[in-house]
Amino acid sequence: MERCDVLGACSEEPEQLTRPFASDAMRRVHEHVAAWMRESDLAVRRDNIGNLRGRYESATGEGSTLLIGSHLDSVRGAGKYDGPLGVMVALAAVQRLHDKGARLPFAIEVVGFADEEGLRYGTPYLGSRALAGEFDLADLELADAKGVTMAEAITSFGGDAKRLADDRWAEGELLGYVEVHIEQGPVLEARDKPVGVVSAIAGQSRHSLTFTGVAAHAGTTPMDSRKDALVAASMFVQAVEGYAGSHKGLVATVGQLAVRPGAANVVPGEVTLSLDVRHADNDIRLLASERLIDIAQEIANHRSIALTNNLISQNPTVPCSPGPTALLARAVEAVGYPSLKLASGAGHDAAVMAGLTEVAMLFVRCKGGISHHPDESVTEEDVAVAIDVLGKFLELQAASL
Ligand SMILES: [Zn+2]
Repeated sequence: MERCDVLGACSEEPEQLTRPFASDAMRRVHEHVAAWMRESDLAVRRDNIGNLRGRYESATGEGSTLLIGSHLDSVRGAGKYDGPLGVMVALAAVQRLHDKGARLPFAIEVVGFADEEGLRYGTPYLGSRALAGEFDLADLELADAKGVTMAEAITSFGGDAKRLADDRWAEGELLGYVEVHIEQGPVLEARDKPVGVVSAIAGQSRHSLTFTGVAAHAGTTPMDSRKDALVAASMFVQAVEGYAGSHKGLVATVGQLAVRPGAANVVPGEVTLSLDVRHADNDIRLLASERLIDIAQEIANHRSIALTNNLISQNPTVPCSPGPTALLARAVEAVGYPSLKLASGAGHDAAVMAGLTEVAMLFVRCKGGISHHPDESVTEEDVAVAIDVLGKFLELQAASL
């Protein structure tokens, strides 16, 4: 918990926690985390994309490797546990092994991912994509708000942008990837459980919709001859809430609304809005997205307004792997809690790592489900349970080999 406080103070902004990819704040975080890793006899290195990787060798110096980690970057105005808590719990579990002088039949690599949130370049999962061998080299040309390209940022952080392919895991057989993360939702709190085992990371569809009516004078255009794009858009926003609210497990959000021309005395001629749709079941998500676009079209038709729809991105649901997930559930029970299963509505590095190896995730209860906010909060008791569970998981994993 103290370590999360220390890392939470490493920010690019004085008044709030904002820690983008390859920033000075990230450099300070790496100094702290690397020092803590070395205390537990981990061999520390930073790969080209900027993931901090600490290796705790196996008993024999051979055998396979288990990756445990989460991300060290943040959103703007973040809380201090989203990401770093998972790295600190991993480190605490390894520290216990070290303090007992214990080595396992497999090596453990603790990974602090360079970027999961995509704050600086708008493209998330830079760190896990590089490690999983799914990095898109075209992203290197992207520029941040100050015009610094990703390739330049990598170079100034000490990496070699031309050798990102070297970051892909190539150090032998992998046992899997395990991630501990705050839930960022209210389920564990509602069920009064400190931790839960993630069943799947929900897929997501993102659309951009534009309603095009006719901009007109707000004083001289009679009400019955308007083609007000914002009224149509607002009906759609309400329809989205109603539709998602009546379908179990479905969440749908309009989070952006651009009104043009955007003047107090002009009837809105054009509105572009975002639509984000998520569900743990891919078919239900796709069907819901289709239905919501149909509803938008019906609203537009009814008001003689044009509608265009662009699919911005689409990520399928990633189920967590049965083997390590069952082992994690056994670990939760061994520590004395029922192994509550829940789906993750948020995206995580584990979803990308699933392309490389088997994945499992443990959620830690957070107060009020609040995240991506300074009020993000976890209790010391719940974090202790998470460390115990991860330690038990390592024990069970060792016994299963
Ligand atoms: Zn996160």
